Amino acid sequence: MQCLAEAPEFDRGVIDALRQPLENGRVTIDRSAASAVYPARFQLVLAANPCPCGKSGGRGADCTCTPRVRRSYFGKLSGPLLDRVDLQIAVPTVSYGELAAGAGQGETTAEIAVRVARARAAQAERLRGLGLRTNAELGGSLLHGALRPPRAVTAPLERAMDRGSLTARGHQRVLRVAWTLADLEGRGVPVLDDVDTALYFRSLVPA
Ligand SMILES: [Zn+2]
Repeated sequence: MQCLAEAPEFDRGVIDALRQPLENGRVTIDRSAASAVYPARFQLVLAANPCPCGKSGGRGADCTCTPRVRRSYFGKLSGPLLDRVDLQIAVPTVSYGELAAGAGQGETTAEIAVRVARARAAQAERLRGLGLRTNAELGGSLLHGALRPPRAVTAPLERAMDRGSLTARGHQRVLRVAWTLADLEGRGVPVLDDVDTALYFRSLVPA
């Protein structure tokens, strides 16, 4: 796993160079005499403040950045890059009261680890005959062929593509996430809720 904290602080060329390995798990280095291809499969975590001063979240009263600076800061994470980021989550600032109220709530890491292991085992079992192990490896021919969910389940994706808010690449990525959400819930196949949730994870709007 690779984590880029404060991702917009990186040079845009560096960030955009991640697009190829994110897409196909390989990196190509071209020089005048020759080119070489290396394996580069990794999980990428990008973290970003909503603005350079980091205070525009929540009410944003203390933010000293202009609207233009805020837009250009987050804009360094280009559309084509974010199109390759499956899970996009805005994390709002919380008050002390909210933090204290949430302490000790929810699943423990150990409980979640069991659920993840079960989901990975379900994927490996379903994909064994195809020589694959995880939903992340599913190509378009399977997602739109043998593993295509019922039409009623994928309808939100078709509407999103018609609206122009989802690319063909994004469509495949949402389907892979929907399969994983179904596996986490112990379902054999994605339902409408899984597709809606997977789509929600791609709707990041910076604070
Ligand atoms: Zn700011």
